[in-house]
Amino acid sequence: MTAQLIDGNALSKQLRIQVAARTLALKAKGVTPGLAVVLVGDNPASQVYVRNKVKACEDAGLHSVLEKYEANMTEADLLARVEGLNQDPGIHGILVQLPLPAHMDAQKVIEAISPAKDVDGFHIASAGALMTGMPGFWPCTPYGCMKMLESIGYDLKGKHAVVIGRSNIVGKPMALMLLQKNATVTICHSATPDLKAMTLQADVIVVAVGKRNVLTADMVKPGAVVLDVGMNRNDEGKLCGDVDFDGVKEVASYITPVPGGVGPMTITMLLVNTLEAAETAAN
Ligand code: NAP
Repeated sequence: MTAQLIDGNALSKQLRIQVAARTLALKAKGVTPGLAVVLVGDNPASQVYVRNKVKACEDAGLHSVLEKYEANMTEADLLARVEGLNQDPGIHGILVQLPLPAHMDAQKVIEAISPAKDVDGFHIASAGALMTGMPGFWPCTPYGCMKMLESIGYDLKGKHAVVIGRSNIVGKPMALMLLQKNATVTICHSATPDLKAMTLQADVIVVAVGKRNVLTADMVKPGAVVLDVGMNRNDEGKLCGDVDFDGVKEVASYITPVPGGVGPMTITMLLVNTLEAAETAAN
């Protein structure tokens, strides 16, 4: 079997057209959705991520502001800046790019963002809303994964989903979203003794670890759907995921590539969350 590709670029393009249309409709009512992206320090990967996010906003007609600060900015100054953005009526979404410099408490900074503007979905109020099934912002990466499953018409009810990784930004919210769609969910992590025994039972596998070849073909049940969240560099320095793509694509029914899979969907869902924050504020 050769798996069908779930193309994150193509799906993103479709969704961003919808975002642009809804943005236009909102602008006609006098409201332009606005995203503030805050970057502290000069982490090269973060610089690329924030540039991509700002560009995606501009392309879809959203207003975006990129605020860059020196790495030696104090936490108190950053908290004050976040509060300023909370009060700014032209800003509907606030994203503080992680990681923050070591002298800052990232969780404290995230908790300072108004939950109504928490378009990254990392605030404890957003996490609580997801856990209890209440309305709130979903973290963009797992939300993008759910959209990818939706795009292939995949019904999760009664399926066994295995999530590898339990971070607050990917693994745990991913598991909760799958649970909400009536999958039976197993979460694996670095202390899982026999990962293969778990993944071989899975109809859906989401891999969010950050290590190459965590999932190989012998660990996948024929016909399973495989979503690869990981972002790594191979020996040639090229971007690759956590999944042994060439091997696993011969066993899976659907698979996401890296690059061009989950990555673009993450940014797309950020646009969706920002637009929805603006729509809510406008109403
Ligand atoms: P993280 O916070 O480092 O979490 C990694 C998780 O993997 C942890 O729960 C860890 O277990 C688990 N793990 C580590 N080694 C393992 C092993 N051998 N077997 C099973 N589980 C193992 O990472 P993250 O922030 O969730 O990100 C994961 C990956 O996704 C990274 O490559 C990141 O760059 C990528 N990412 C991509 C996007 C995107 O838009 N495409 C967005 C976010 C993240 P413990 O909890 O036991 O330590």
